[in-house]
Amino acid sequence: MKVYVSTYGCTMNQGDSEILRALIARRHQLASTPEESDTVVVNSCAVVGFTERKVLKEVRRHKLAGRRVILTGCLPKANPDAALASGADVVLPNTRIAEIGSVIEGRGTGDATAPPKPELPKLRHSNSAIAIVAISEGCLGACSYCATRFARGRLRSFPMESILREVECALEQGYREVQLTSQDTAVYGRDISTSLPELLGELVDLPYEFRIRVGMMNPTFAGEIFDDLLEAFKSRKVYKFLHLPVQSGSDAVLRHMRRGYSVEDFVQLVREFRRHFPDSTLSTDLIVGYPTEGEEDFRKSLELIGEIKPEVLNITRFSPRPGTEAAKLRDLHDWIKKERSRKLTELMRGIGLERNRRYLGRRLRVLVTKHGKHGTLLARSDAYRQVVVREGKIGEFTQVKVREVRPTYLIA
Ligand code: SF4
Repeated sequence: MKVYVSTYGCTMNQGDSEILRALIARRHQLASTPEESDTVVVNSCAVVGFTERKVLKEVRRHKLAGRRVILTGCLPKANPDAALASGADVVLPNTRIAEIGSVIEGRGTGDATAPPKPELPKLRHSNSAIAIVAISEGCLGACSYCATRFARGRLRSFPMESILREVECALEQGYREVQLTSQDTAVYGRDISTSLPELLGELVDLPYEFRIRVGMMNPTFAGEIFDDLLEAFKSRKVYKFLHLPVQSGSDAVLRHMRRGYSVEDFVQLVREFRRHFPDSTLSTDLIVGYPTEGEEDFRKSLELIGEIKPEVLNITRFSPRPGTEAAKLRDLHDWIKKERSRKLTELMRGIGLERNRRYLGRRLRVLVTKHGKHGTLLARSDAYRQVVVREGKIGEFTQVKVREVRPTYLIA
């Protein structure tokens, strides 16, 4: 069989595709394009309607071309009706990707309990220094708009020793940036009597010069471990990067979303992080057009972004997901969501440039992580700033001088 793996969505899904490729390559040939393949594994995302429609369109395209399609990822559990009606030959929940080999051979899915993801093989990109490592699956949240929790379930933390083994193995292979990922890294270990700061403490003791990127955290749970987290982040091996999705600048909307924190709680965490690490990167997320978001609520979101000036802002237009509380509410018109997204993007362009101007002329030690466009290389500073360089070797640290700045990256 010649099998192509198509991937949508978040870092965790990218990591799942590395597992899928490794398991498939054990018994089948991996195709680098769908056209070369006779079987396509679609590793889907269901976080917004737009992505779901792209996934379903791809499934139809492959079926029309006579290929066998295995639909996995979040869609099978986040929207089972759509997955079953997609026309895919097999619908495989993402909790069962370990069975992909037998599924491809048409032997159906046994209900063997799979080993934790860190113990599953990975086929990582060889021309990158980045290793994605899932530390847990699921979360402890109940956000009103979120279908991911249907797909990923309640928190299941992976054993610390298997995570340590996986990271050490990746470092032995030459990877030098470890991206710790899950739906909410802040709740890691709560179900196995440990914690994210403890895990970081163990990881930074590994005898290699490398960097750790800590994945997104729900501010509610981040706040409960923040002091220990700030201690753990003091290690030079942990990027000074905080991904803390706020989702709205309005307390009323945050209550409707059942996020569990206030705008002020979020601002306090950001201030504390920046007080400890003035040279750092804050990434946050905003949903625009939540059904109860009025003009005044949106003005508060604009104001919040103007006040905290994040280095990275991920903007999502609200999209009702089947089975969620928020889907029962009257949806706002698309043009309202579009207009609010446009205003935020415009604001962020100015903020990004302003934040990056501080680096002009500065010398930085960066880690070269992967290839960029037009023969360039992409690197990361210790504050996880994206730096475009012309010279260097993937997986190596190098000294650079910042010559130009752009809203979302530096040129050195
Ligand atoms: S924390 Fe909230 S948004 Fe994140 S995966 Fe859980 S329910 Fe979804």
